[in-house]
Amino acid sequence: MFIISKVKNAYKEIEDIIGSDFISDKDFTKAAYSRNVDPAFPDRWADIIVRPETTEEVSEIIKIANKYKIRMVPRGGGADLVGGSVTEEGILIDLTRMNQIHEINTDDYYCIVGCGITWGSMLSELQKKGMTTGILGPGSGYSATIGGGLSNATVGFSSTKYGLVPDICLGVEVVLPNPEGTIIKTGAAANKYATPFARYGVAPDFTGLFMGDVGTMGIKCKAFLRLFPDPPYKARRYYMLLKDDYNKVFEFGHKLRKEVGDGLNDLMVFPFILTQLLSAQVVNKPPKRPKLTGPVVSVTLDATDERILDVYLEKVDEIMLKDGVTRPFEWQEIDLDMVLSKDWKFTLKEEFNFFQKYISMAPPKSSCTTCHKVAISRLNESVQKGVQFNISNSREFPPGNPPYPVFASFLMFLPNGNLVIVGGLGGDNTDEHRETTMNIWHKKIRHQVRYGGAHYWLGESISQSIVEAGAYTPEFMQFFRDMKKTVDPNFLLIDRFPEDNIKSATSLDKEFDRKHDTL
Ligand SMILES: Cc1cc2nc3c(=O)[nH]c(=O)nc-3n(C[C@H](O)[C@H](O)[C@H](O)COP(=O)(O)OP(=O)(O)OC[C@H]3O[C@@H](n4cnc5c(N)ncnc54)[C@H](O)[C@@H]3O)c2cc1C
Repeated sequence: MFIISKVKNAYKEIEDIIGSDFISDKDFTKAAYSRNVDPAFPDRWADIIVRPETTEEVSEIIKIANKYKIRMVPRGGGADLVGGSVTEEGILIDLTRMNQIHEINTDDYYCIVGCGITWGSMLSELQKKGMTTGILGPGSGYSATIGGGLSNATVGFSSTKYGLVPDICLGVEVVLPNPEGTIIKTGAAANKYATPFARYGVAPDFTGLFMGDVGTMGIKCKAFLRLFPDPPYKARRYYMLLKDDYNKVFEFGHKLRKEVGDGLNDLMVFPFILTQLLSAQVVNKPPKRPKLTGPVVSVTLDATDERILDVYLEKVDEIMLKDGVTRPFEWQEIDLDMVLSKDWKFTLKEEFNFFQKYISMAPPKSSCTTCHKVAISRLNESVQKGVQFNISNSREFPPGNPPYPVFASFLMFLPNGNLVIVGGLGGDNTDEHRETTMNIWHKKIRHQVRYGGAHYWLGESISQSIVEAGAYTPEFMQFFRDMKKTVDPNFLLIDRFPEDNIKSATSLDKEFDRKHDTL
């Protein structure tokens, strides 16, 4: 009874602030917000959905939530894969009305945007001015938001050159989930006399507290992002390995980074088995059957001058073709609908031509993602460990799980020694198979954590697995808990650091690790 009346009271008070058009507790609205894209969690229905437009409105909502001790969750595009942006009960705060571009400063190379703006809207405006944020957003597409990207420490297209989404962030305007609904700015903007042109130098890097926090430390309302002049000359080349062998990939990666340097915009590797499957599934097949031999390496280059681009292209050909380990490849060899890379001009649409075909290859099952970063030098070892894990645990996978993830590793290179291994297992969102799916998902992540992998999205599934794997020291856990308590004394902004849920790692896990220590 008390719970219902406190939700009702909160509803009324929030309605007075944001107006009746932007709040709902109707079932059809709650149903629409009950899922993101993650495949294995059940639907979760919030009590109230709100759509504020300003930072001040967010602050008022937070004060009311604190008054009635109601939990909250922020939501951007809802393309999360790991249990975020939905809540069972509580207030779901949809930020997509906070979608303004407040400033594009081409002199000082920064922009200020509402965190609910989508990558598509922001990038198309920036393009008109010859500017870019470098990173083009996640593989989920342009309807994901900047707030989601910062909160999930998203890896995106062009991340080889520009890093993760937090790497382009100069600061944020954020509302803390405390009873006062405190609004702060971080980075240079913490100096009330300064513009948000720099991240460091005013205080410790408090921006970092809100990066990759999956929305647990505060609600980001505005983002101050770095801008770069968009290099007008771009090209992409594909090379197919003549053998299905990842050993060479490390060498290529190193050479390209060293010898092409700043011209290297994106470097990705598509697994052999997926290319074969794609080839079998395409609608517009070429008359001649393609000869497929190994993974496809995709190299994207950019330059300020056509002549410089030509030098880069020559250099890349030299590196990739020198030892007869790869051959030039075109997607048209397998799919006549694919754009030829020779004519490839960068448009915001191009990026998704082949990527979306890849990741939607096994509908209706979708991936319980196991994407994580590893040090480049440990690529081959990590891929082998992943394959070994899948083989050894094959009986624990949910029924009908497609076999190809066992052998496939899609790679994205990042700056420095980082590289992303994209992967996942086919999850079932059915009551019957959910437990099996969850168990193997968590087990796989624990395994990755123990061989030294670092994930990017945390969310419910990943953060719980990190805790279960015993990765954090007690001192770190205490520090983390203290930080959370400082910004959110009532623990209302959904706490995905599931301390209460910690299951210790099973002895089977330990045995598995012992067996495979030498891999
Ligand atoms: C097909 C597919 C491909 C994908 N590819 C990639 C990829 O290449 N790289 C990658 O990193 N991710 C990828 N993702 C995952 C996801 O799409 C991204 O992480 C994306 O950045 C999420 O953005 P969003 O706006 O949809 O966030 P949401 O799903 O709305 O939210 C994500 C998390 O951030 C929190 N949050 C959102 N906005 C705010 C805010 N303003 N303040 C505080 N917290 C907030 C939410 O509570 C939630 O925990 C993919 C997902 C799919 C379905």
